[in-house]
Amino acid sequence: ISRSTYFSEYTFFQPAFHLHFKSILTLEHQLKRAMQTNQLQLYYQPQTAFMNNQVIGMEALLRWKHPKRGMILPLEFIAIAERSGLIIDIGDWVIYEACRQNKHWQDKGFNPIVMSVNLSPIQFYQRNFVTKVRRILTETNLNPCYLELEITETMAMQIEEVSLQIIEELRNLGVSISIDDFGTGYSSLKSLCLYPITKLKIDKMFMRNEYKGNQMIVRSIIKLSHSLDMKVIAEGVETKEQFTFLQKEECDAFQGFYISAPLPPEELTGYFIK
Ligand code: C2E
Ligand code: MG
Ligand code: MG
Ligand code: MG
Repeated sequence: ISRSTYFSEYTFFQPAFHLHFKSILTLEHQLKRAMQTNQLQLYYQPQTAFMNNQVIGMEALLRWKHPKRGMILPLEFIAIAERSGLIIDIGDWVIYEACRQNKHWQDKGFNPIVMSVNLSPIQFYQRNFVTKVRRILTETNLNPCYLELEITETMAMQIEEVSLQIIEELRNLGVSISIDDFGTGYSSLKSLCLYPITKLKIDKMFMRNEYKGNQMIVRSIIKLSHSLDMKVIAEGVETKEQFTFLQKEECDAFQGFYISAPLPPEELTGYFIK
């Protein structure tokens, strides 16, 4: 199956449901402008290892500083960017900027951390995606072992042969691959074994403790990751109780408001080990 054929069949993007058609068009137009006028910005959220309570990674999260509306969160514009094709340019910029920032921190003498970057399926299935990533790593001079790309279960499993090949090529570059929002999509156990995935990210919905089943699910995902020789990180950790539970269950790392919300880079230097 060729990647280009697949791409054309993948156009069922859903615009954010709460937006009317007209405002989508307006936002789409404004988003194009936003790119050119530096209104897009990356925030970063620290990821802490349970082993030593140190920050070992950061997740790059896109923000749109709209001149009139203030800060717009990705859930409101990623779908629009995907539908309009703008996600390609935006996504290229996100990877470049996240790598550049990470290298900049290293050059300032901070202990190296792994930078996680979210991918849209449209980016991931571009024919030249791996080449682009390789070029960005060369241009920013970042060691590939400090870049992790986040895909979703649905993205990886859409078309197994193609995604397996892309993931293998990225791994050959030295880049890590994590599965974001794990547990909310549908990945086959077979493909989880087959793919050279490095980490599972437990979706934040499983951190809620109203539902008793969640703890059991979290425990199972941690066991599954370790059986498959993968690392596991919990998202959306907000309380001491959640932290303690994950620590007891031998989760490797976590991110969430309990330590820090996503922040602009200049506010993060205190989280690094010198
Ligand atoms: P995600 O990759 O699952 O990112 C985690 C989301 O959880 C972020 O929302 C983050 O701000 C939020 N979060 C972090 N800690 C907590 C917590 O303790 N409690 C709660 N309730 N939430 C927490 P954000 O920044 O609004 O991003 C939403 C989604 O947008 C991301 O989900 C990701 O899928 C997508 N996204 C963000 N940046 C990019 C990007 O550069 N490219 C693409 N394609 N998607 C992006
Ligand atoms: Mg993510
Ligand atoms: Mg994501
Ligand atoms: Mg997630």
